[in-house]
Amino acid sequence: MPDFEYEPLIQHEGEDPTEWEHLGQDGVRVEQALGQEVVVVDPAVLTRLAARAFTDVSHLLRTRHLEKLARILEDPEASPNDRFVARDLLRNAAIAAAGVLPGCQDTGTAAIVGKKGQRMWTLSPGDRSAIVDDAEALSRGVFKSYAEGNLRYSQLAPLTMFEEKNTGTNLPAQVDISAVQGDEYELLFVAKGGGSANKMMLFQETKALLNPKSFEAWLDGAIRKLGTSACPPYHLALVVGGTSAEATMKTLKLATAGELDDLPATGSKGGRAFRDREWEERIWRLTRETGIGAQFGGKYFCHDVRVIRLPRHGASCPVGLGVSCSADRNVRARIDRTGAWIEKLDRHPERFLLRSEGQGEGAPVKVDIDRPMCEVLATLTKYPVGTRVAFTGTMVVARDIAHAKLAERLEKGQGLPDYVKDKPIYYAGPAKTPKGMASGSFGPTTAGRMDSYVPRFAAEGASLVTLAKGNRGPEVTKACKEHGGFYLGSIGGPAARLAQDCIKEVSVLEYPELGMEAVWRIRVEDFPAFIVVDDKGNDFYAPLMKTKALPVAGG
Ligand code: SF4
Repeated sequence: MPDFEYEPLIQHEGEDPTEWEHLGQDGVRVEQALGQEVVVVDPAVLTRLAARAFTDVSHLLRTRHLEKLARILEDPEASPNDRFVARDLLRNAAIAAAGVLPGCQDTGTAAIVGKKGQRMWTLSPGDRSAIVDDAEALSRGVFKSYAEGNLRYSQLAPLTMFEEKNTGTNLPAQVDISAVQGDEYELLFVAKGGGSANKMMLFQETKALLNPKSFEAWLDGAIRKLGTSACPPYHLALVVGGTSAEATMKTLKLATAGELDDLPATGSKGGRAFRDREWEERIWRLTRETGIGAQFGGKYFCHDVRVIRLPRHGASCPVGLGVSCSADRNVRARIDRTGAWIEKLDRHPERFLLRSEGQGEGAPVKVDIDRPMCEVLATLTKYPVGTRVAFTGTMVVARDIAHAKLAERLEKGQGLPDYVKDKPIYYAGPAKTPKGMASGSFGPTTAGRMDSYVPRFAAEGASLVTLAKGNRGPEVTKACKEHGGFYLGSIGGPAARLAQDCIKEVSVLEYPELGMEAVWRIRVEDFPAFIVVDDKGNDFYAPLMKTKALPVAGG
């Protein structure tokens, strides 16, 4: 019989680089109980921390994320489009840091991961015998930050299998709290947008993947398949192995948030998790070689790569692949006997723009979209895919539910409204409009979700110019070729900059009851976009998405 030896799976090594801001000691005290000291925390402290965390993270980024954007501007090997995207994202960060417009219009699902020391007790000051639900206290903070800020409510409650309704609060939050040793409470707050969440992928692989040749071939396919709809440059994470699918995915979430950066660099007989730095370097090179770049071609598909190896059952090999997007919204907090603390995020992103002044990316092709649609199409057809344009005029905004309703009208023989025929269609849904401003944060949503509508609508002379983020399916390329249409990529991520600098008027055109999913009319000035699919059957991303070799195992 072997000797029992316990080895924790996750072993943190090295210094914690987090800079902390002390939020005071109100509601936190040390008491004697059962012959030992316990830290007693008022649930109001949890509420305050959650509210502060989601407000901060909606407007501010970590310095190390901003540094990586600035590095793109300084890299002579970065493509002009890489630099344009990086500069736009930095401008966006500077606007969002003022605390009015959130950095991205998709202010995300609120997720909270807590580790609560067994000698940290949450007690209600009014009635110390009352049972306190930490998840409720934290959710109250989530509610407050989304209700008081110019954020977006994105959560849909299922009323029946097919009927849904926006909860109007952005609740429920996802709260996972585990008990650990000690008398501290560690918290991680993550605001994960839909586009980014959709790129958290699980692959059930086999031992056949675990050799360098198969692994690299598989990675080439899986990484290209990520596409650009989660707004690169990405913080990419890969987790290989796991004692269960959920262990793999939980590790992946923490890895994308930078929570596992200090894992050891080697494995152990007991099966500890480790970071494989050699594969991180190889995969980072691979991401550069794809040529996808920071959304529209170049070198910067990813800022960095984290590879974590976990133990596994001999008959299974779960692999998790995911990203933290350009809205890299992760913030830590803790409570200890000295009070509550929150991670300091960067309040001055503008200094990174000053550092890179004077590095131009060339002028865009200006397009007056108030001209008749045939003239707009005649202008666009002169330029190749990858061309940067700037739209001025009126666009119509419609996304998932509005498209479903328009399709229903078509099926009932009622035809499509003129506005989808006469104007470019921007797939988006805004955050709340701040007082005194024309628009709330208003970046593009993932185009791919609207792919199935394009052939049907284009055949009716509608949706001939569409704008959103990410790559599209072959049916869109085919429809654009058949009907003379175009799809343009709008930069994913800089929603505050679009709201402040490019969107001059916003009004509801139809379906006001759909809230942010209504059909909107917007007036734009110099709205940046790139031609991705043209009327000749070209798709800018198609050659970049082709894998070098066929993956050896499915996913
Ligand atoms: S940056 Fe892009 S992927 Fe991230 S939350 Fe915003 S829209 Fe979604």
